[in-house]
Amino acid sequence: MSETHSSRRLSAARGGLAVARTVALVFTAAVLFTLVLALAGCSSEKPRVETPRLLFFGVDAGNWNILTPMIQAGELPNIASLVDRGSFGVLKSGVPIQSPQMWTSIATGVVPEKHGIMRFTAEIPGTGREVPVTSNMRKVKAFWNILSDADITVGIVGWWPSWPAEPVNGFMIAQRAWPVNWSRHGIPFGAARDETGRLIVDDFEGRTYPEELYADFEQFIVTEEDVTADELSFLFDDPAFRDPAKQFHARWVFAKDKTFADAGLAMLKRFRPDVLAVYLQGTDVVSHYYWGYQREEGFKVSPSDERLYGHVVRNYYRYVDGVIGSYLAEVGDDTPVMIVSDHGFETKRDLKERWERGERIRTEEGGKDVPWDHGVDGIFIMTGPGVRESNRLPDMSVVDVTPTMLAYLGLPVAEDMDGAPGLAALEESFLEEHPVTFIPTYETGGPRGDETPMESPMDEGIKEKLRALGYIE
Ligand SMILES: [Zn+2]
Repeated sequence: MSETHSSRRLSAARGGLAVARTVALVFTAAVLFTLVLALAGCSSEKPRVETPRLLFFGVDAGNWNILTPMIQAGELPNIASLVDRGSFGVLKSGVPIQSPQMWTSIATGVVPEKHGIMRFTAEIPGTGREVPVTSNMRKVKAFWNILSDADITVGIVGWWPSWPAEPVNGFMIAQRAWPVNWSRHGIPFGAARDETGRLIVDDFEGRTYPEELYADFEQFIVTEEDVTADELSFLFDDPAFRDPAKQFHARWVFAKDKTFADAGLAMLKRFRPDVLAVYLQGTDVVSHYYWGYQREEGFKVSPSDERLYGHVVRNYYRYVDGVIGSYLAEVGDDTPVMIVSDHGFETKRDLKERWERGERIRTEEGGKDVPWDHGVDGIFIMTGPGVRESNRLPDMSVVDVTPTMLAYLGLPVAEDMDGAPGLAALEESFLEEHPVTFIPTYETGGPRGDETPMESPMDEGIKEKLRALGYIE
């Protein structure tokens, strides 16, 4: 694409946001009122939807290496109950095994070459400057676009990537609605508050759709500085352990997940969207930092290190299980649920021995000199009316998630998707009553997606976090 062309498209995208903002300013009250009506189902003949048609949880790096023993030990009661009542199996990740690419494949049913999110960052053309990938770069519709077009209401919370938030039939809270600021020395990095308690964060558009929702969302924001040592003590066994610097990797991601989990639950109660999707990142981040302290994975760990760090990963899964439980308590047992991860996480056994001998090693992805990393085997769990119970599925792929969701919700699957609906999850009687239908494509609105990412005031802060995780140079 020529530079002129991409610049024009970038300014067109920005122009669209500016127009949206002007309209929003004029009609703020009306827009919000309409949103509430639309989501409550009061604006049409349809009865108010009390039971969501699907609750979707994105658990980054969720894997059976951790889940299976914890479920067997009774430590994840909510996830265990979903596995027991539903279908579950391995969800194979794609290449590269990286989060923004795979979450976009999950949301679209196509491989990265087709959806256009190829890396963690992308260049602002002609500048050599890289910024984190943005939602305007996606070349195909995500499930929230498809469902919106089909008059199904959606709520999308914290998806990666999801900024700028897209106009949907419902609401979207972009990942960048949680504030990340510049770091000076690496620690602490995250937003601070001024003496009155106001967040010190740049104001910019696209953090929520509709824009006015941000004012509501803001009350749920928890920053790293807001998280107290006591609040984090569930992760660390040693009660004397109160060193914020050593906790900080867990701190920022817990602050972020708590923000989205609390906001998502509040929005669920308020708006009752047909389909609500909430993304949680912490299971990935704590695995990167604390995986190698797990005795269960065969690592030699000193008793003091084990007390400090040895159970952080598993304790974080307990937290996620509790979050899922808090949503389930709100909606009732027959609400369909999907839990999905973009990839797994595993000990690289071939590298472990060399590492323990003190050798410097590199994993396939490079950059990380430790014998643990993303693995290709993620998780898929699905429950609901018509879903087979206690049913171990054949392996599925990240590109199968959207086709499965569409088939289950009674919408056609597109033939130009790379994935296929996971029919093995569904009861025969359900498939007889709701036969899967196909259409050639959902991409009828002309070309979409811009190769040029958009810039936000958080770009450097986000890059710093990606760098700390070893994801970018
Ligand atoms: Zn990931």
